[in-house]
Amino acid sequence: MSSTLTRRSLGRLLGATAGAAILDARFPGRLSAATLPSHAAGGPIRLSANENPYGPCQASLDAFARSSSEANRYPGAIEDEMKAALAKHHGVPEDRIVLGCGSSDILRMADSAFVPEGKTVVVAEPTFEAVLLYCKATKGEPVKVPQTTDYRHDLVGMAAACGAATGKTGMVYVCNPNNPTGTIVGAQELEAFVRRVPPSCVVLVDEAYHHFVESPSYKSAIELIGRHDNVVVARTFSKIYGMAGMRLGYAVASPARAQALQSHSSWNNTSQSGLAMGLAALADPDVVADQRRRINDARRWLCAELVRDNRKFIPSETNFVMIHVGGDIGPVAHAMRERGIQVGRKFPSMPDWLRVSIGKPEDMKAFVAALRQIVPAKAA
Ligand code: PLP
Repeated sequence: MSSTLTRRSLGRLLGATAGAAILDARFPGRLSAATLPSHAAGGPIRLSANENPYGPCQASLDAFARSSSEANRYPGAIEDEMKAALAKHHGVPEDRIVLGCGSSDILRMADSAFVPEGKTVVVAEPTFEAVLLYCKATKGEPVKVPQTTDYRHDLVGMAAACGAATGKTGMVYVCNPNNPTGTIVGAQELEAFVRRVPPSCVVLVDEAYHHFVESPSYKSAIELIGRHDNVVVARTFSKIYGMAGMRLGYAVASPARAQALQSHSSWNNTSQSGLAMGLAALADPDVVADQRRRINDARRWLCAELVRDNRKFIPSETNFVMIHVGGDIGPVAHAMRERGIQVGRKFPSMPDWLRVSIGKPEDMKAFVAALRQIVPAKAA
């Protein structure tokens, strides 16, 4: 597990009340369930953390129940089974797979392995913040490259920031699709970018939302690893497989980079139950298509309503959408909370954009109704 502070441990260190106040300010949409009014359906509608509202498939739930008989055993054997299953799934040798306690753990290992003190990590602004938080512990230096005016990674700027002449950049992080914007980097532009980056610099491609993408220009970067051994891909079971609570992720990398990541991993960083569930999910032929259809259908419905209301939003290839709310999202998130709906945190470079995760159709209807009350639709 990471030695850096988590939101929970920060709260404990500061004391419950002070901690809660700080968490509230940093993550306006992410108060703990206990502080929220109960929703009629039995709790808040959680549209804040890009979770999968349907949860794990039945085969994973069955595997979870069976795994209790192994709760007293370290998961060494089933870790090997998972590495073999993932290697087969991706058509790569097993020495290219590294398991993580969620893909966040992979991002932490990557900072530890590739961004020590004196090195920089180049990221888009805004993007998922984990590599920025973890590199505080390694004393690496973040270099943020503002996104383009159409909310995409500025790959020209990011390649330039990789400083070929100085060799100072240890890693460049490409979140594809990007959180929070939901935009993608196409396969051809990604490979052209990798060619421009110095080979000593690791290109970490975070594919947490890979399965939701529909654009034909997109491809996983896993196939790039054979041609460019500085490419490392992070994947998770948290999103399409609905297993965020089980903490299971992995990396696919060249043998040398996989070994470098592995050397920053803790022993047995995954659990019997998570691995059993993950194996069952990988073996289920329908889970990806079913989840993708349900979630992408709900996203399309939401976007059609946003168009009907004449709202500005960023077309998304993921299970979340960024919506322009015309002012700081703080009060909007607060008003949503009062209506029992949790929405995404504020991203400082996009303070008047609200990120909403895709829930079940009834969740999205409740969200749209609340949004119409809080930020009335614009006349066409
Ligand atoms: N990467 C991205 C882009 C994310 O948005 C998230 C979580 O929301 C993660 C990684 C971390 O996922 P996990 O640690 O649950 O695998």
